[in-house]
Amino acid sequence: MRIDIITVLPQLLESPFQHSILKRAIDKGIVEVNLINLRDYSTHKQKSVDDYAFGGGAGMVMGIEPIANCINALKAERRYDQVIYTSPDGELLNQKMSNQLSILKNIIILCGHYKGVDQRVRDHFITKEISIGDYVLSGGELAAAVISDSIIRLIPGAMSDETSALTDSFQDNLLAPPVYTRPADFNGMKVPEILLSGHTANIDHWRHEQSIQRTKERRPDLLK
Ligand code: SAH
Repeated sequence: MRIDIITVLPQLLESPFQHSILKRAIDKGIVEVNLINLRDYSTHKQKSVDDYAFGGGAGMVMGIEPIANCINALKAERRYDQVIYTSPDGELLNQKMSNQLSILKNIIILCGHYKGVDQRVRDHFITKEISIGDYVLSGGELAAAVISDSIIRLIPGAMSDETSALTDSFQDNLLAPPVYTRPADFNGMKVPEILLSGHTANIDHWRHEQSIQRTKERRPDLLK
């Protein structure tokens, strides 16, 4: 998979891809992540990418020109399955969406800034708009990192134990069961006996029950 992230702050996005599962996936060649500096596509002397909003009002708007230049240059190289814009008014990211995105070959993620991008970019270049939650961030970079992380860890080979992703929360619309590690007894705080039994079928059953219980308590909406 190839993820091309268009941003005015590529440095902000370097670290998230240099650790843990994401780094390993990139090192193994399972995914390629390119940080593309939008300013490289500005024809402006000062490399600016934003301007005042037509009609007035506070806040700058990212212009269509550099974004169109950038997306067209990328599209000339390969076919993209999705051109995503990170936006608080987009479709709310969830595990189902991440699963769907994880099987794509090439995607672009455009990070907004300031008041956002000129509506014509959204109308003519963007195929999917994603929000990571009902709050407003300063820019799309952290959202792009969240979206990429949730996708990459699902690509086969990204995690050392592939079954691990399948037992995470939201797969099967259930929250994950509680987990424990050694010591089995910490100052009288004990691990549930069943987990020490070595009986895999019983443990699986217990975990499933715990998942259902937890989902009922915390996220009954998922069970509908
Ligand atoms: N004026 C816009 C917010 C702009 S915030 C509005 O009210 O809708 C600046 C940029 O941050 C946005 O263009 C978007 O790319 C990103 N962003 C902010 N909140 C986000 C969220 N919840 N999910 C995804 N991207 C977000």
